[in-house]
Formats: sequence, structure tokens, C-alpha cells
Amino acid sequence: MDATIRADLDAIPAYAAGRTVPGSLKLASNEISLPPPPAVLAAIAAAAAAGNRYPDPAVTGLTARLADRHGLSTDRIAVGCGSVLLCQQLVQIVCGSPDDEVIYAWRSFEAYPIVVRVSNARNVTVPLDAEYRHDLKAMAAAITPHTRLVFLCTPNNPTGMALRRDELCAFLDEVPANVLVVLDEAYHEFVTDPDVPDGLTLLDGRPNVVVLRTFSKAYRLAGLRVGYAVGDPSVIGALRKVYPAFSVNSLAQAAASAALDCLPELLGTCAEVTEERTRVRDELLALGFEVPASQANFVWLPLGERSTEFAAHCERERVILRPFAGDGVRVTVAGADENDAFLAAARKFAL
Ligand SMILES: *Cc1c(COP(=O)(O)O)cnc(C)c1O
Repeated sequence: MDATIRADLDAIPAYAAGRTVPGSLKLASNEISLPPPPAVLAAIAAAAAAGNRYPDPAVTGLTARLADRHGLSTDRIAVGCGSVLLCQQLVQIVCGSPDDEVIYAWRSFEAYPIVVRVSNARNVTVPLDAEYRHDLKAMAAAITPHTRLVFLCTPNNPTGMALRRDELCAFLDEVPANVLVVLDEAYHEFVTDPDVPDGLTLLDGRPNVVVLRTFSKAYRLAGLRVGYAVGDPSVIGALRKVYPAFSVNSLAQAAASAALDCLPELLGTCAEVTEERTRVRDELLALGFEVPASQANFVWLPLGERSTEFAAHCERERVILRPFAGDGVRVTVAGADENDAFLAAARKFAL
């Protein structure tokens, strides 16, 4: 007889990660294509030498560095094994019954439906508007007495649109105080629009708001798995309770601390990426593609029924993209040469 597995797990979609194809360029996972800086690699090697020891379960050093950087007390920051796991922990601290609802826009980050289902809560999705932006009015209207959490992904993965200060503040003021609002700012370092706020500036007086940041994108540590949540001590304290023991390993802790010493280099690359984003978008527009003005390190091509075909075409040209069948294709903006390779492939596609 087989073990009794939760039947609802059958309905959970598998997370479809960007594919790596040997010999092809990967523009499918929004990574920075440069390796971590030498000082970070040295810190990882030094930490590896003590790999026989368990990591610091409280992530003391890195938490203190982040607190110092943001001018906050350490009880307002929880470091986790990537912000995806923090998303799951956030759902876990507010959802306990199958009637509990989590609202987010769709299309948005593919991890949300999974972490909600894993936590036995209910997914409530609100379609993006015609400009691929969050429809905040519809999201506010979707809140019910069962709503426990709202994810706002800004800039939104995969459409690249970011929420502006006015609309975001109006929404936060409308949400009932007992509903947790999570601002997933994984692409914060690529934002150039001055009307897009830094979520950390919105936390004062809003204890139900949490900001998520990650070391996976701008900080070039996607393989090491470090993210952090910033919020009210009550929320952060609860997050630490559902934290799987030792989930931030010692190499990751050392690497993230070392990366904080390399900010000029890391953020300099982000600035280059945002310039490339403008160039790539302008060239795609000239080719006749529709390209929403992204605030992240990727662009969204809403190709609808031709999405899979376009990604397959680019794959034959040895450029791997991230198609969402029937909807669009997400293309990571990388270094100039890599972007040129993608643009050359796009030029050969008959729109
Ligand atoms: C890439 C990404 C993350 C990062 O997740 P990690 O687990 O920290 O690697 C988080 N949120 C969104 C929307 C992302 O696109």
C-alpha cells in the first residue's frame, strides 16, 4: 500500500525554471551573467574551509550588516533561503485554514501559486490591466474577510511594470490592517523611474507591510540562495518561528556579507543593464515588437499565441528565453554582446 499523500498536491504546478542549454546563451532567468566579484569568491572559499560546522542559525552577522545598511534595528529583518522561501514562510504565518485567501496579480511571479497551495491556502488572482500593470482597484475589491495576504510584485515579473508611489500608497491605505501586504522588490536595483518608491520608505506606520529583497539578481548570488524580509518586529518574529533550521548556509551568509562590501561594482553593473534595457527596447520597438517599458532587468514581449514559436526560433539561434505559452516571452537584459546576439535572433523572426 502506498503512503497517503495529500491529494491537493496533485493540483500544484511544478516550478518551471529557465532552461540551461550547453552552447546557448541563457537569457531566461533574469540573472546577471557576470560571476560574483573576486572578493565574494574569496569569502565563499574561506567559509567553505569551515564547512564541517553548522551555519549560524540566527544569521547574526549578515542581519546586522543589513540593519546597518538600511538604518533599522535587527528585529525588523529576517534573512532567508532566497526570497521564494520567505514568500512561503509569509503565507505560513498568516494562513492556517483552507478558507484563507492570498491575492496577487496574474500574470506575476510563478512561485506565488505554488507557495500558496503548499501552505494549504487559496489562490485568488486578479488579471493585470491592458498595460500589463497591477489593477490595484480590482485587487482592493477582491479583498474579503478571508483575505490574509496580498503579494505585490514591483517591478512585476514577468511584465516589468512597477507600482508608482501614489497608486501604491492609496492601495496600502485601503487594505484592512489585518491583511499582510508583501512588496516583492526582487528587481529594486534596476528601477530608474523616480515615481517608483523604495518600499522600505513606506513601512513607517504600516505594520502590516513587508518588503522582500534578494541577493539573487543585482548581487549575482542566485546559486547561493539568500533573500531577506523587512517589516514590523511582530511579523519578523513570526517568520523566524517558521524558518527551517539552518536554511541559510554558511557559504551564503559569507557571500552576501562580502557582496555588501562590493556595492559600487555590483550597482554599477545594474546601471549598465538599465542602459542596455533602453537600447534593447528601442531596437525591438523599431522591429515592430510591442515592448512595455520595463523597470527590471528583463523585457516582456506580449506575443500571445506566437510566444512559444518566438522562443523556439530564438533557441534555434542559440538564445534561450522564457516563454509563457499563449501569453508572452520574458527576455533577460544582459551585457551588450549578449543582447546583440538576442537582437540578431529577433531580427530574423517574421512578425
Ligand atoms: C527572481 C525573483 C525572486 C528571487 O527569489 P530568490 O528565492 O531570492 O532567488 C523573488 N521574487 C521575484 C518576483 C523574482 O522574480
